[in-house]
Amino acid sequence: MVFLKSKKELELMRAACEISAEALRLGGEAVRPGVSTWEIDRVIHEFIKSQGAAPNFMENGFPASACVSVNEEVIHGIPSKSKILQPGDIVSIDTGALYKGYNGDNAATFPVGEIAPEHKTLLETTKAALYSGIEAAVAGNRVGDISNAVETSARARGFGVVREFVGHGIGRELHEEPEVPNYGSKGRGRRLAAGMTLAIEPMITLSGDSIVILDDGWTVVAESGKYAAHFEHTIAVTENGPEIYTLAWERS
Ligand code: MG
Repeated sequence: MVFLKSKKELELMRAACEISAEALRLGGEAVRPGVSTWEIDRVIHEFIKSQGAAPNFMENGFPASACVSVNEEVIHGIPSKSKILQPGDIVSIDTGALYKGYNGDNAATFPVGEIAPEHKTLLETTKAALYSGIEAAVAGNRVGDISNAVETSARARGFGVVREFVGHGIGRELHEEPEVPNYGSKGRGRRLAAGMTLAIEPMITLSGDSIVILDDGWTVVAESGKYAAHFEHTIAVTENGPEIYTLAWERS
């Protein structure tokens, strides 16, 4: 079931998203060579708690407040004191906050020091794919229009598109209907309506669509072993077009 949010609920969504986005911004600021992924998680955890909010991934069973995924890890990397960031790495951070009964969710991939040109292109392309998807999140369009926009944007560079994990509706629950795949056909799927809130989140690899889940039961890695990127915003479909609720992480 898809829940259309009232004006009051959208205000609550906005507040949860602002905390999620500021947590991500602070996590990104902490990225540098020599820092462990555990330290990044700590920064995010402390901030979310300081706002009177709860880390919603933890509420959903993940063993930390943030997912911190390095290089070929696509999503759901478990923060660790022994995982130290090195120059040339890329690190995907996914944060979410539950605040006053509503959820925010967002992610971005950050470079660690200088990175290879192909990895710079991967980051730029994945972020551009996210924005292509957001532009298609217009009332009257269908979910497939978002999916197709994301996929087309990534495929134009010959990159891989992860299919097993998808974007989603978001609200009182972290994951609500509808699913928002990063691949698909225009004009297919559920029709978008004002009041829908969606997490759009391309997961793009340098090569190949296939993923593997590691023995820890969480970490999703690109089967090719090539680097992967993940960018995500929570947005609302409104009468006046898409509105991004998690913009704060882009302010740096
Ligand atoms: Mg999400």
